[in-house]
Amino acid sequence: MPEMPAPTTHLMEIPAALVPHIVLPRLELLSEARTRGAECVWGGERLTGETAIDLGAHTDNGVRWFPRACRRCTRSAVRSARDKHPDRCTECSPAALCDIRRALHDLLLELRR
Ligand SMILES: [Zn+2]
Ligand SMILES: [Zn+2]
Repeated sequence: MPEMPAPTTHLMEIPAALVPHIVLPRLELLSEARTRGAECVWGGERLTGETAIDLGAHTDNGVRWFPRACRRCTRSAVRSARDKHPDRCTECSPAALCDIRRALHDLLLELRR
């Protein structure tokens, strides 16, 4: 494998444990550029190695794909995942939020920087 130049900024990756909580568009509705991470999976913005946020590996109908996204779209997807999470979670209560809910919140703060 050729050695990649070190990125000038830190490439952000969504922690694997949080990936299943973030809703992605359906694979069959996406253009080829979006399915291979050349464009933001949500908004279609052109991505570079420095701006792309890695959304991990996904398998849909036997197809393995690696979506990436721009920071702005990732932020809104993570915000919606965080806000909707407690409704679906059996571990969250108004008094105590679970680890996933806390991690989604921390991730959102990180994306705001
Ligand atoms: Zn985007
Ligand atoms: Zn929870």
